[in-house]
Amino acid sequence: MEIKKVVPSGYCKGVVNAIKLAKDTKKAHPNEDVYILGMLVHNSYVTEELSQLGIITLDDSKLSKEELLDTISEGIVIFTAHGISDQIKQKALNKGLKYVDATCVDVLKTQNIIKEYLAKGYDILYFGKKRHPEAEAVLSISKRIHLISSRQDLEELELDNDKLFLTNQTTMSYLELQDLFTLVKNKYPQIIIEEEICNATSSRQLAITRLQDCDLLYVVGDVKSNNTNKLVDIGLQSGIKKVLLIQNFKDIDIDDLQDVNKVCVTAGASTPPSLINEVIDYLTSEAGDQLSD
Ligand code: SF4
Repeated sequence: MEIKKVVPSGYCKGVVNAIKLAKDTKKAHPNEDVYILGMLVHNSYVTEELSQLGIITLDDSKLSKEELLDTISEGIVIFTAHGISDQIKQKALNKGLKYVDATCVDVLKTQNIIKEYLAKGYDILYFGKKRHPEAEAVLSISKRIHLISSRQDLEELELDNDKLFLTNQTTMSYLELQDLFTLVKNKYPQIIIEEEICNATSSRQLAITRLQDCDLLYVVGDVKSNNTNKLVDIGLQSGIKKVLLIQNFKDIDIDDLQDVNKVCVTAGASTPPSLINEVIDYLTSEAGDQLSD
């Protein structure tokens, strides 16, 4: 069985930077409580690693970021790579907290483009995932930003502004985006569109579409990670027969490898390299041994 690691895959610069910022913050303030408002990046192994360093992740799907912030009264709060609203930053300051902003530069770039168009009087159509922190941070900028997460959202949208601008969450699938652009152009021919998938996301997606003769693709990552889920979508849409999302090598079912000539392994932008290497090692040694028995 041939095993191919897809290149590029795994950590992106935004994730590396966010993790470094969190670790550096705790190192510089060992005696203060350091909190992260939500998962720093969407991978539970990263959250666990940070927890072992004494960095507390505040994460509760029933609570908004503002409500999570209400649960702390002192210390340092880190805002995640997905971005944060100005209101929450201000609230942290009002509470006397210090903050560190780990927002990825690519997320900030999209936010800045949106702000420019808002200032010019445009309404913004934003293609993103409902309740995802990156989308929530963007929506907090203005009521003139309209989230589109499905065809139905677009169909139901009624706008009386002729000046319209469309952009997207940085981690969406480029195939999904192409379909959406066509639909949006049909409904609003005058709309200005700027595609804002970040380089890390698009290069990982593109690498999958270039795979040849791949019978099975493992996507290593966390179910909460949008870019990881999009790699699964791209794999399936590229015609790979079987695409499986796994958190680590323990999720590999040997039955899935029967009759597989070539297995490929990719990973989301928030998946630690150690998890990817463990999957490759398992496929190379253990799985190979079991299949040849
Ligand atoms: S996936 Fe893209 S936007 Fe998200 S942290 Fe990585 S580089 Fe930044």
